[in-house]
Amino acid sequence: MSNVQVAVVTGSNKGIGLAIVRALCQQFPGDVYLTSRDPGRGQAAVTQLQQEGLRPLFHQLDIDDLQSIRALRDFLKEKYGGLNVLVNNAGIAFKVHDTTPFAVQAEVTLKTNFFATRNVCTELLPLVKPYGRVVNVSSMVSFSALKGCSQELQQKFRSDTITEDELVQLMAKFVEDTKKGVHEKEGWPNTAYGVSKIGVTVLSRIQARLLNEQRRGDHILLNACCPGWVRTDMAGPKATKSPEEGAETPVYLALLPSSADAPHGQFVSDKTVKPW
Ligand code: NAP
Repeated sequence: MSNVQVAVVTGSNKGIGLAIVRALCQQFPGDVYLTSRDPGRGQAAVTQLQQEGLRPLFHQLDIDDLQSIRALRDFLKEKYGGLNVLVNNAGIAFKVHDTTPFAVQAEVTLKTNFFATRNVCTELLPLVKPYGRVVNVSSMVSFSALKGCSQELQQKFRSDTITEDELVQLMAKFVEDTKKGVHEKEGWPNTAYGVSKIGVTVLSRIQARLLNEQRRGDHILLNACCPGWVRTDMAGPKATKSPEEGAETPVYLALLPSSADAPHGQFVSDKTVKPW
């Protein structure tokens, strides 16, 4: 088993994820895994970084596929005995003018952004070594979506005692409510992406709390963040930040020094903690 440190970035064949891998290759003192659901797109991205003189490694990972997540988990366990840095970056968003029925958008978006991200956490968090860093890429949109929720839902999502099961049930209820056409009546905002990112932010708060309770001595720091509005296939060419600029906050959180005991369980934007 290797003693080398290891970092993994999900959905890193393009966009912000690729920029995070580039920065980690330059700054992280260990192996950096670029992952992609499609090996062809992943290898092409690895080749691109190699041409820049960097040495990323590759592993297939489709976060929608539990077998794929478990294959990566077993690989990391066997080769490294765990992992040091996990960046949950993979995500999807329907375009504003997409005519796919809202209930379908809700199901598909929540499946990847919330449920699949949670599956990655369930499988990989137990592997994170002492002083490990976990970064869940959420969005400022989770704030506006939270403000669009009923007072009752806002209270639940801001609660310091909400459990992971309760959060999962709420996310599943949103999808069911869209299918019944009652999501607005039930207090939800009209944004599937926004609700999925509420899920990512609240999940991060819960996971940080669990780390405090169960692994306090391990000094693991776990946070949610917003990369900003970034020029990628998701956000388009009018966005204000380059992918490299978008990678800055996730990379800052991934490389928090071992002497740091904060931020933890926070939502961080422009390297600054924002009140949830
Ligand atoms: P992007 O250019 O569309 O890249 C998304 C990445 O996620 C791609 O590599 C994509 O792979 C991957 N992905 C999607 N579904 C996956 C799955 N099931 N398994 C594995 N990988 C999967 O988007 P981006 O702008 O870089 O977004 C990265 C993250 O930042 C997302 O979580 C997004 O919500 C968040 N974010 C972005 C912005 C922004 O302004 N761009 C703002 C706030 C938050 P494929 O190439 O195979 O599709």
